[in-house]
Amino acid sequence: MVGISENKGPQLNLPNMDTDLIRQKFKTWVTENWKPNGDLITWRTKLAMAGWACPSWPKNWYGKGLQGSADRMVNDELYKAGSAGVASGVSMYLVAPTLLDWATDEQKQRFLLPILTGEHKWCQLFSEPEAGSDLAGLKTRAERDGDEWVINGQKVWNSGAHKADYGILLARTDQDATKHHGISYFVIPMKQQGIETRPLRQMNHHASFNEVFLTDARVHKDNLIGDVSEGWRVALSTLAHERSGVATRRPRFQDNSGQIVETARAEADEYFSTYRWYPQRAGRANLIVPEIQRTNQHTNPLLRCEASAVETLRQVAVWTTNRARDGRASGKPPGAEGSVAKLNMSVTARACHRAHTKIIGANGMLVGADSPREGLIAEVLLSTPAQSIAGGTDEIQKNILAEKILGLPKEPV
Ligand SMILES: Cc1cc2nc3c(=O)[nH]c(=O)nc-3n(C[C@H](O)[C@H](O)[C@H](O)COP(=O)(O)OP(=O)(O)OC[C@H]3O[C@@H](n4cnc5c(N)ncnc54)[C@H](O)[C@@H]3O)c2cc1C
Repeated sequence: MVGISENKGPQLNLPNMDTDLIRQKFKTWVTENWKPNGDLITWRTKLAMAGWACPSWPKNWYGKGLQGSADRMVNDELYKAGSAGVASGVSMYLVAPTLLDWATDEQKQRFLLPILTGEHKWCQLFSEPEAGSDLAGLKTRAERDGDEWVINGQKVWNSGAHKADYGILLARTDQDATKHHGISYFVIPMKQQGIETRPLRQMNHHASFNEVFLTDARVHKDNLIGDVSEGWRVALSTLAHERSGVATRRPRFQDNSGQIVETARAEADEYFSTYRWYPQRAGRANLIVPEIQRTNQHTNPLLRCEASAVETLRQVAVWTTNRARDGRASGKPPGAEGSVAKLNMSVTARACHRAHTKIIGANGMLVGADSPREGLIAEVLLSTPAQSIAGGTDEIQKNILAEKILGLPKEPV
């Protein structure tokens, strides 16, 4: 699972729409409907029912069928009004888009609204001890028992699974079929006896992901997404959304804005506490120049070169991610450009790692109150390797680009 990024503020671009008119309509709606004190879920439900929860979603599913940039406009205006928007996180950027693509109307009816209101938190149960890059080699089994499927197996690296209400799960339903067939895609309730979630401690000392053991865990047949044993196609959809780097951002809130905003702020604090090292994972490019200045090395030509190289990469990464996002916003399915964006983020994180190391030297190994930036730089150095692994490794992105963009022959199996 990748990509919780810091909110750098709105970047609005609503081509082919009357941007001002839509903004004006929304502002009027907020003026008429926003009351700072009340219940967060009731407020989010109101946004959803009016189609303003995510205006890029289809009209019949809490949206208005507008371009993705309208979602950013809504968040921008809600912030200005001292209000709060819908929930954020894995459920919004991985699960909801997959459900919109593949779920039945009955499933959308059950799952989408509680995702928007934040009542249900989700996690991704894809990777296994022997199935990461080679995900289709997964061994977790699902066997039919009446109206239910019985699940046995082990998953690993599952971010946020310890807090999730539901997981998107891949399990093998046909042992005889070839590797990419015979896999089904389920929505599994996490709070049940057959599921044990054990947090894993990382080398940066955070514990954001887990091992998940499934022992006779149960999923109702109505929670199968797509056809039986044809879940690989659904999984590809989730993976493409994951690679595209279109992460949900930590929401911004104004101070002293009433009860609803305070509840939303507490919810975001709790959710993002799991991912508080993610900005360090991305390399903290924004600290490179201040660190050069703090350590009084601004005349060092090598460090000046490092800083400008990072800035160039960072800017290209932003443009590439925006291109992927705008492609999505204009209705294109996520494609190989997501792999370019993902790879770009890794290259940038590595360049940041190198620059921070050159600036700080051996002090970068120090943690604790009197270490540089209270251990933050050490956390960058220990976290950036994860950027090249999560959501598909660099090598896998290169394979995708080689095949899908350069048209090279497929790698030998
Ligand atoms: C921060 C983080 C969060 C994560 N969150 C989740 C989550 O929420 N849910 C989830 O299901 N998973 C999650 N993962 C797991 C992640 O998707 C896997 O770690 C990733 O897909 C790589 O799989 P692996 O670790 O098994 O490595 P492997 O697949 O064993 O790869 C080992 C090495 O071999 C290389 N390699 C493998 N195959 C090839 C090939 N064909 N060609 C060239 N090189 C190859 C890889 O690039 C890598 O360098 C997370 C991982 C991280 C780091």
